[in-house]
Amino acid sequence: MNARVLAVIGGSGAYDLLRDQSLEGPCAGPVETPYGNSAPVRRIDCGEGAAVLFMSRHGERGYEVAAPFVNYRANIYALKSLGVSHIVAWSGPGAIDPSLEVGQYVVPDDLLDATRGRASTFFEGKGHGFIRQNPVFCPVLRSLLLSACASTSRPVRDGATYVCTQGPRLETPAEIRQYAILGAHLVGMTLIPESFLARELAMGYAPLCYITNYAEGVRERPYESGTLFEGLATTDERQRVRDAVSALPDLLRSVARAWREIAPDCACHTSMERFVRSGRLGPDWRTWTDR
Ligand SMILES: [Zn+2]
Repeated sequence: MNARVLAVIGGSGAYDLLRDQSLEGPCAGPVETPYGNSAPVRRIDCGEGAAVLFMSRHGERGYEVAAPFVNYRANIYALKSLGVSHIVAWSGPGAIDPSLEVGQYVVPDDLLDATRGRASTFFEGKGHGFIRQNPVFCPVLRSLLLSACASTSRPVRDGATYVCTQGPRLETPAEIRQYAILGAHLVGMTLIPESFLARELAMGYAPLCYITNYAEGVRERPYESGTLFEGLATTDERQRVRDAVSALPDLLRSVARAWREIAPDCACHTSMERFVRSGRLGPDWRTWTDR
């Protein structure tokens, strides 16, 4: 059984939490990988001997790299090379489902891929990327996230389909109506290819989302120049998002402490076992990729 080392990939707002030191820990800097440099990696002490490795997807000083330009392969490869077995990824999507509330936590259970042209596999030109995607996310990590959310006073939704769009632009009203018809409840730009890349390197992955806004057309919102999302989110909603983000460090620390206590019983580390058993892949994961 692999050692179970937890990492957290922080989404929008992670840089604010680093800046105000709600999240802090020594920084080992970016990791050099065959796919370029990863985002800087920090070790965050979570109390009671627990710790997580932490990386801020969009940068450490602010929203420096928009979702389509994140080097997802370098980030996932770097975490694997540091011994990480499971990843919690946080993301602040918009709500397509009108019954969701801004600021609410959601632990999704499925994905729709509407990205285009992203580097989405480690296995270019190879025959071993044919991997089942159900369950989409690590069930053990999902249930831990749900328990941690339930212990807060904040509402949490168990299960949702997250459609990942290409960006960096926001979606049109017709696109959101289309995604609603397809069964999506949330729209964001970051979980793909991150989730699929993690599975290619036999790592568990589960997202923790907080609702940032209603997607275009879900609520009547006049255009307002010069404000966040040009008026898509109200002042009250922006405050609720800040509250949800500022509660994340405590939530993640409690997830890290609980993670240390549980018995390893998920199959995430076996995603590539078929190829290893048949001899098409070697036992060392570093030989699996195309570089
Ligand atoms: Zn797992």
